[in-house]
Formats: sequence, C-alpha cells, structure tokens
Amino acid sequence: MTINHWIDGHLVTDEPARTAPVTNPATGAETDRVALASTEDVDRAVASAATAYDTWRHSPLTRRQGIMFALRDLVDRRRHDLAKVITAEHGKTIDDALGEVQRGLEVIEFACNIAHLLKGDYSEQVSTGVDTWSIRQPLGVVAGITPFNFPIMVPCWMHPMAIATGNTFVLKPSEKDPSVSLLMAELYAEAGLPEGVFNVVHGDKVAVDRLLEHPDVEAVSFVGSTPIARYIHTTASTNGKRVQALGGAKNHMVVLPDADMELAADAAVSAGYGSAGERCMAISVVVAVGDAADRLIPLVEERIATLRVGAGDADGSEMGPLITAEHRDRVAGYVDAGETAGATVVADGRNLVVEGHEGGFFVGPTLLDHVTPGMSVYTDEIFGPVLSVVRTDSYQAAIDLVNANPYGNGTAVFTSDGGASRLFQQQISVGMVGINLPIPVPLSFYSFGGWKNSAFGSHGIYGPEGVHFYTKQKVLISRWPDPMHRGVDLGFPASADD
Ligand code: NAD
Repeated sequence: MTINHWIDGHLVTDEPARTAPVTNPATGAETDRVALASTEDVDRAVASAATAYDTWRHSPLTRRQGIMFALRDLVDRRRHDLAKVITAEHGKTIDDALGEVQRGLEVIEFACNIAHLLKGDYSEQVSTGVDTWSIRQPLGVVAGITPFNFPIMVPCWMHPMAIATGNTFVLKPSEKDPSVSLLMAELYAEAGLPEGVFNVVHGDKVAVDRLLEHPDVEAVSFVGSTPIARYIHTTASTNGKRVQALGGAKNHMVVLPDADMELAADAAVSAGYGSAGERCMAISVVVAVGDAADRLIPLVEERIATLRVGAGDADGSEMGPLITAEHRDRVAGYVDAGETAGATVVADGRNLVVEGHEGGFFVGPTLLDHVTPGMSVYTDEIFGPVLSVVRTDSYQAAIDLVNANPYGNGTAVFTSDGGASRLFQQQISVGMVGINLPIPVPLSFYSFGGWKNSAFGSHGIYGPEGVHFYTKQKVLISRWPDPMHRGVDLGFPASADD
C-alpha cells in the first residue's frame, strides 16, 4: 500500500496521482511508494489545522501538558518500533536510530514543562497606579519541512514545541524515509491529541511551495541543505511568514599537538563515520596543528580497520549504507576528485562490498590526508563517511581556516591547554562548539542553531528559542480608574508619576 498523508486525525486512503519510490538502502530494493501531495492535498491539511487551531489554542495549558506527558510515555515505550522503521528506510544502525529517538524524546520532555515556559513577566507600579505584563500567544498554523537524515529527531525539534505552545502543525517530512512520521501521528492520536492538530503531508517541491505561499500558514521551520534553506528563508519571508531555516555544514575538529591523541582519534572516528557521515554535526575536516597529524592518523587508521560496516539491522553493524545510489556515487566522486587534486587516500571505502547486501548503497570509512582548502572535498558538504585531514603550522592558522569557512554549524577543539580552549571559545565563528567533545548538540533545554550559511532566520530551534519562535509576545499596560487621575493630557506618557 502507498505511504499516504495523515490529515485531520486519519490516514488518507485516496490513491495519489503522483508517487515516489522508498528504498531499503541496505539492499537497494524498492520497498514502498510514497504519495507526493498536490496543492489540494496541502490545502486540505492546512484547512484541518486551521479549524483545529480555533479550539486547540484555547485548550488549558494543563491539558496540553498532559498530552505531551502521554506522548512522552508512548514514544518511550515504542522506541524500538520507531527505531526499526527508521532503519528500514534510512539505513542507519538500530543503535543509532535509538539514539535519534532519545534526542527527539528529550524535546518532548522539555515540552512537558510548557506551563512553566510560557509564564509571562509582570511589573507592578511602572507608573503611579499602572502595572504592565507580557504574555506569549501562539501563531496559528505552522509548518515543518524536514530532511532525510533524522526522520524522527528533527521533526521532534519542531512539533512538540509548536503544539505545546498552542499552534497546530503540518509536517512535510523527507520523501526518502516517510513512514516514521505516520507512526508519530498515530502516537499523538493515542496520546489524546485532537484531530487536525498534527498533520503529515508527504511530497516534494510542489507540497513545499504550497506551504510557503499558503495564506493560512503563519510560520515555517525548515531543516535541510543550505541551497534549499536559503530558498525557504527568502520565499517564506517574502510571503510574510516567520521562518527559521537550518542548512548544511562542514564541521571542523581542530587537534592541537598537546591533545590526548587516543581521545582525539576515538572522537574523529565516531563523529566522522557515525551514521555514515550523514549528520549535520558530523566531523568532516580534522585540522591538525603542527605534528598532530603524524601522531593522529595512525590511530585513526587502526580504528577504521576494526569498524564493521553492514545493514543497519544486522548484528554488530556499526555503520550502515548511504541513503540512495545517487548519493553513494556522489560521495565516491568527491573522493576521486580529492585524489586527483593531490590528496593522499589513507583509507579507501569506495569499493566496499557488503556480503549478502551487494545491492546496498555502501561506502566504507574513507580518510584523506594532505587536503587543502581549494579542493572540492574541502569546500563542499559531502555528507558521507569521508574524513579529510588539513594540516596547519599554527593554532591561529587553524582558527582562521574555521572562521573563513562559509558554514558555521558545529566545531570542536582537542587540547590539554585551558587557555587554548578559552581562546577557541572566544574567537571561533561557529554556533555550537565542543571542547574535547566532537558533536556538541545542545540538550533540549538549550537551543540548537548554527551560524553563517548553516542557519537563516533569527531563532534557534527547540529549547527556549523554540518557545519564542512559536509564540508572539503581547505586552499589556493597565490602570484602573482612580478618582484622583482625571483630565486629558496630550503629553507622551513618560513621567514616573503619571
Ligand atoms: P534537502 O535540502 O535535500 O531536503 C530537505 C527537505 O526539503 C525535504 O523535505 C525535501 O523534500 C525538501 N526539498 C528538497 N528539494 C527541494 C526544493 N527544490 N524545493 C523545495 N523543497 C525541497 O536535504 P536532505 O538531503 O534531506 O538532508 C540533508 C541535508 O540536511 C544536509 O545538507 C544536512 O547538513 C542538512 N541538515 C542540517 C541540519 C541542521 O541542523 N543544520 C540537521 C539535519 C540535516
């Protein structure tokens, strides 16, 4: 059966006019077809969300919290089912999928505290007999457009925050791994969420463009590649919507000669090859200062030799396949280009064949040394298991290199020197920074967001900034009539006594 939309609390059963293939990346076999929404399908989802908004926005905070608590419980209990669905369509290992479920769950847990998070400010006696306070109110129907690489976690960065703050939501997940969003819709329904508050429309540019122009969509959250993030930000802003659009990345890990090299090698391998490098916070470039490369590279090689690459659901697999055959070829092409440009291929995953999974989209862990900033393997986001080593003579040159890069999602420094780490913290132009820790993804009570071409818009995603993104502030000032204060006064009300 076609993977279909979820609108108004139900799975749509109409046969879609257009569909796209969904594959199991470990075998290369097409396992399903997914519906590609028409503009009419999107309009139906938005209309359902708009109708639901009228009552949902007035529902008591305690009820919204109660639903988030119930959802939290269901996601916790069903985490293995969710992980299996992710692995079948994305390819990542079950352990990695479970990690993603956990990080999504943490945002739901944060949203369980929404009554506290939505408390306003109050100032008594700002002028004689005058009090002022602020409240935060929901926006209306909001949309989320999400990438393939975290099919549950990234939508969870958005919808629990949006829904708990009183909005209704239309999710357009990646068409490459769409099924887990439907399982999430079922869990919301089981948790007691009213029909129409959470909708899922599958699709491509047609669905996205309709969401960007629909007059009843008040805000758009996007996570995906930089060119599309830029397009979403420009188009949705032009159409008068509030928008946050997170883009791609090229994350550097700076290793100083005084670093604990065993720790740095563990970190480089974990962050470079975890999820086959298909993470926006993956480490893609190791910037080795002084003689650090000569000591680090053999340790990384040792670790690569023991990595088990295989189907995500196979026992012992540590790294799965890439998402599509086209993407596998693109990643391999970058390694070819790096080699031609003069990089040294220290470990080569291009010709990896996984026994029993010959049709799978695998590339093995690949390590390139002597990469220089002009090479495409350095300039472009590869989004695969390819780690490049760039060598610099000085720490300042390493910092300058990171700062000159157009992306600014995550970065890390490995050192034993507190002063060096403090310098990094101060000088680096990147939104999320790790110190002796390679993937600095903020927990749910902070907010996530890169700098430069890794994020467009003024708000971070989830956490306190998520509350602000999905609500607008209203400030009230009141004075109850006092017989002592009568008479017209055309002066601007500035005096503390008025
Ligand atoms: P993508 O940009 O191709 O797709 C993201 C979403 O946009 C999908 O829902 C897709 O259907 C839609 N889309 C694709 N092309 C479109 C078009 N021309 N017009 C309108 N909509 C379009 O990204 P992807 O390949 O699914 O995901 C990988 C990318 O996402 C990487 O660049 C990665 O760095 C980035 N990412 C960033 C973060 C972050 O937090 N900054 C997190 C996860 C992934």
